[in-house]
Amino acid sequence: MNSINEYKECRLCPRECKVDRTARVGFCSSSDKIKIARAALHFWEEPCISGKSGSGAVFFSGCTLRCVFCQNHEISHLGKGYYITTQELADTFMRLQDEGANNINLVSPTPYVPSVIEALDMVKHKLYVPIVYNCGGYESLRTLDMLNGYIDVYLPDLKYYSDEYAKKYSNCSGYFEKAIAAIKKMVSQVGKPQFDADGLIKKGVIVRHLVLPTLRHDSIDVINGLKSAFSDDEILLSLMSQYTPVFKACEHPEINRRISTFEYNYVLKCVQDSGFDGYSQERSASDTSYIPKFYDEKSESAD
Ligand code: SF4
Repeated sequence: MNSINEYKECRLCPRECKVDRTARVGFCSSSDKIKIARAALHFWEEPCISGKSGSGAVFFSGCTLRCVFCQNHEISHLGKGYYITTQELADTFMRLQDEGANNINLVSPTPYVPSVIEALDMVKHKLYVPIVYNCGGYESLRTLDMLNGYIDVYLPDLKYYSDEYAKKYSNCSGYFEKAIAAIKKMVSQVGKPQFDADGLIKKGVIVRHLVLPTLRHDSIDVINGLKSAFSDDEILLSLMSQYTPVFKACEHPEINRRISTFEYNYVLKCVQDSGFDGYSQERSASDTSYIPKFYDEKSESAD
């Protein structure tokens, strides 16, 4: 793959900015240079991802969605991070594996897919842990085709059913339809969930849904939409309760609070009745103390 060509007229996500990222940035704020905010063992993912040893998370700077309530807004919106070369990214994957990571967890990698593929090509003969693609669900089928054969586990969000909320909070249209099409493509690439003897996921798709305050009926629509699109054993579902009103959530009074126990249990009951297997977060996860420090010391001084 010639990554320069992909960055010259960027269509890596459904926004299709078609900007020349060698000269300027698109909606995601990412140029053609790889920028990451943190690369370290991470223990706050689903148990089948973090396990006991941790997930080897690489947090990429910038984001194709830039939600108003983003918990990682310092790196998704404000661009915290530092630049690395493709070789350094490949070396980072190896370092994380050597430190005992259960997997390489690419967090918000979509703007950098061509470079990620080049880095994986450099070390694929030495990497034996699964590669996890941890993304916002707003993915292009064309970009997912590029990733076919490189990714073992897809970890997409499915944030909204209603376009009203997708537009209001993530500035995008057609979110649900695009995300469902993307998740179907992911399932077609990696198949049904498979685990090793320790319960760690080796292959499969885990769909994450974060319950938002006031939007419990939209959450029910999301779950019913998944039921219409997938059989019970095709995907795992991870229900998240950790919503915390940060960043620009204060500009939207209806989401400027934590979710209530009633709201979470209302959605949890629907998930339990759905037939999907998966995970649900403890309600206590909605405390900000559960939001890890998402950038390295190097990010403090770099931009
Ligand atoms: S990856 Fe960034 S520049 Fe490329 S289409 Fe998406 S938002 Fe635009």
